[in-house]
Parts: sequence; structure tokens; C-alpha cells
Amino acid sequence: METIMNYFETIPSSHRSLILVGGITFFWLIEYAAPLFKFKYKKFKHAWPNIFFTLTTIVINFVLAFILLKTSDWAVASKFGVLQWLNMPLWATILVGVALLDLIGAWLAHYVEHKVKPLWMFHLIHHTDNHVDTTTANRHHPGESVIRFIFTTLAVFIVGAPIGIIMLYQSLSVVLSQFNHANISLPKRLDDAISWIIVSPDMHKVHHHYVLPYTDTNYGNIFSIWDRMFGTFAKIRNEDLVYGVDTYPDVDSNSKISKLLKLPFAGYRAPVGAKFEVENKLDK
Ligand SMILES: [Zn+2]
Repeated sequence: METIMNYFETIPSSHRSLILVGGITFFWLIEYAAPLFKFKYKKFKHAWPNIFFTLTTIVINFVLAFILLKTSDWAVASKFGVLQWLNMPLWATILVGVALLDLIGAWLAHYVEHKVKPLWMFHLIHHTDNHVDTTTANRHHPGESVIRFIFTTLAVFIVGAPIGIIMLYQSLSVVLSQFNHANISLPKRLDDAISWIIVSPDMHKVHHHYVLPYTDTNYGNIFSIWDRMFGTFAKIRNEDLVYGVDTYPDVDSNSKISKLLKLPFAGYRAPVGAKFEVENKLDK
């Protein structure tokens, strides 16, 4: 435990990049071997906008990282925040710390993005992907990256998280998000079993179904308990899944970086539901 914390306290940027690139590569290869859907898409062409948005996310987090560091240093020095008030053994501190960062920094951020229209306009870009795979994990508009950063900072403040726990949380978050977006098929029983603890691939795919109420369920990032606790857990049969958003059914536009960057400023479109024909429907 001590060693893990020491490692993450001083994790070099190169190792963080390696985790991100290694994760995508690993799940990308499994997508070839055991795909959930046999998409008729060009894998590299599809990946490009998603990799672009992953890079903008990295840049934003890198530029703003000092704020996270300062907040964490202040909380630890001032003995402020949940972890600082509770005097727990190291393993429990790590577990509770990661769980609460996941709740406030990811689940709550994601929930609010779905409920507050101006924030939804930024998050929408993530949902416009009509072929969800491991590269979709960090398809975040730069505006959304900032929104998520604010929630992460708020989480660090409330939790009183030391930097080692923040880095461990972010590393887990990157890999598990790549895992649950990956176009992979686990044995149903295994997927069901792990979905009691962490967000499984089948569980997260429900969130990418193109119509409400499914889009507004399964907000989880690492742990699945939050959705079960707050009543936002849902299931759907994989064969019924259609990826995307009903309000933006044009598959071509959904892969154009310039269009996606402008989308949040184009005005809100109310959900139209299943009556909208989605081109992607037959592409499985
Ligand atoms: Zn979402």
C-alpha cells in the first residue's frame, strides 16, 4: 500500500502517457479479437476525431494541473476534507478517497452535465459518436474538459485528497473508461458479475443508446454503486442498442472535428425520440 502511494505521489508524466496509450492499444487489440458489434467502419478514420479530443483533454488537464495540486496541498496542510477528518488505516483511506473522487468528480459531474442544458451542449459531443469503442472514452469537447476539471477540483477539496490518491484515481479512471467504452464482448455472466462493483462494458453501453430514458442512466465512471444507490441504473439488451443521440443523427457530421467544436454554440435541440431514423441502425 505504502509503495503504491509512493509511486503515484511522484508518477512521471511519461508513465501517465504510457497508461493512456497502453490502455487504448490493449483494448483496441481485443476489439479485433472479440468485438461486441462488427461495425462497418474504418477504425483509424473513426479514431481520429476521438484522438484529437483526447489530446485537447490532455492539454487542458496539463495546463490546469497546478490548481489541483495547490488544492490538494492546501487541504492536506490545513487538515481539511473527509479523508483528513477521518483517521483511517491507509488501505481504507485509499478506497474511500478513490470512491468519493469517483462520486463527486465523475458521477456527479456527468449527472449535472445531463441535467443542465448549457453543460449538456458540451457533453453532447461525447454522445454523438455512432460507433462507440475504446477511443470514445476521452471524446470530450475542450469545454467539457474544463467542466470536468472544475468538478474534480471540487472533489479534491471536499475529499481532502492527497496527490497520491488523486493520481491513482485518475490512472484508474483512464483505463476503466477505455475498458467500459471498448467494443468488446465479455461473457454475459462475467459482465453482470463485475457490474456489481465496477462499470462493465455492457452497463456503460446503455448510456450510449440514442434515446431517452436510456441516455439519462448509468452515469458511472469507475464504480457502479452510485447508479444503483441513486436509482439511475438501467439495463438494455445489447442487440437493441443504437449508438448516438436522436437529435444529431448525421453520422458524417458526427465525425467532423470543426462541426463538433461548434456544436455547443449551435442552440439546444429537444429530444425527438425513436421516431428519428438513425443511419447507424443497420450498421452493426
Ligand atoms: Zn453522458
